[in-house]
Amino acid sequence: MKSRREVLGAAATTTALTALPARSVRASQSAGTLSVSVTVSADWDAPRIRFDYEYDVPDSVSSFSISAMPSGFTVESDGFERDGREYVWDGTDSPRQTVFLPADSSAVGDSLTTQNWGYVAADSAFVWIPSLGVSSPDRDLRDVSRSRSFDGEGVATSSFAFAGPHTTVREFVSDAQATVVVPDAVSRDIDTAALFEELAFQQTHLSQRQRYTDTALFLLPRERISPRGMASTTDMVVSAAAVPSGSLNGVLPHEFAHVMFGTFGGGRMRWLTEASAEYYARLTLFNRGLASFTEFHNGLDTNENYDAGYTDIVLAQPYTWTGTSAHYRKGSQVLAALDAEIQARSGGDRALIDALADTSFPLTSYQGFENAVARYAGEPMDDWLDRYVNSDGLPGVPADPQYFVLPGVSRDTLDISTTTDATTTRAATTDTATDTGTSTDAASGSTPGFGVGTGLAALVGGTVAALKRTESDE
Ligand SMILES: [Zn+2]
Repeated sequence: MKSRREVLGAAATTTALTALPARSVRASQSAGTLSVSVTVSADWDAPRIRFDYEYDVPDSVSSFSISAMPSGFTVESDGFERDGREYVWDGTDSPRQTVFLPADSSAVGDSLTTQNWGYVAADSAFVWIPSLGVSSPDRDLRDVSRSRSFDGEGVATSSFAFAGPHTTVREFVSDAQATVVVPDAVSRDIDTAALFEELAFQQTHLSQRQRYTDTALFLLPRERISPRGMASTTDMVVSAAAVPSGSLNGVLPHEFAHVMFGTFGGGRMRWLTEASAEYYARLTLFNRGLASFTEFHNGLDTNENYDAGYTDIVLAQPYTWTGTSAHYRKGSQVLAALDAEIQARSGGDRALIDALADTSFPLTSYQGFENAVARYAGEPMDDWLDRYVNSDGLPGVPADPQYFVLPGVSRDTLDISTTTDATTTRAATTDTATDTGTSTDAASGSTPGFGVGTGLAALVGGTVAALKRTESDE
């Protein structure tokens, strides 16, 4: 059943198939596992981006179907019959589909935004890779294994593809392989070593909730991306104008926090996705010595910035903050206070990160969150959470640096003097991830991509959502 891969591999020898390894971790040969490989390529004459999907169907699977593409894509199928919103496999041996995304498609724009699939220009393109939903009415399909590659000059990772001239740098960062992709069109010099350092810092000093062996960071010219950053499961895309250059900037640590923690679903726990990314981005800047404690603290303690409307914000009730950046701002403030509380109650043994990283607690539920916090605080904190998460209370953030120096970081390397000149410091921090909070970045990490089909098992056996790329947070 590995014929498909071999065919692709053979083709690769003459076409410089990307050096990135196949993304699928699971053995594609196991019973009930459907293998989907997608090869991305660019046709510059059109111009358009092409996605070739090939399906390896195990003998044990008698039927499956693929969800239809949204408007803006053209699909050619071989081995499928269209039935309403689905393509149903007709039993053909090697079914395949070719999907085109032309430059003049309504699905793309001049830049990547939260609403579209990317951009296709005359000689370069950046796109989300459509993750076609697979369903199996007979329930004999147990898993879907996916791999991506790029044919020609370009790179495909689990969520994204860049086509055109670029430089790729790969490095092993703690437990994961990290890939940085810099298009030639990025005009400023990028210090990739500094980027890896940044990722390594978070990997080293924070615990992760999401498991991954690969992560990728695409930098795009500032005019090609309208939020400053986005994350999708293990991949990130960030404006080249927002990566480290010695200045205070929280976009990359914010997006990488999304990669480390994943998302926390909707409803009452929806706030936690952006709140955690924002808090740990700020904590990272402080612990790397890029922000003083005063800047860190003032940036979090947003009381005075809350206008009247904000005081009624209840994090666990998303309708109270829809259209605002309260999940970033109040959310990170509440997490900072909670972090200090957990440390105080556990005698310094535990911190918020322990609760976030413990996957035995389902943090998509409020109750799961309460339980995780209780576990690490050493006692229930339901009343505290009721006040600050489940109603409109706003906790103060202790002005004591001891709660915010990460394990393994020496205080000597940090600026922990506390002055209270909020005016200047606020300006400095606001330029970081906070702006992330504004509508511009609402996308950042909010992730049109999260949930895009990398949770393979989730796509199998049930009703399958089509291309679910827009679970955007705002
Ligand atoms: Zn975000």
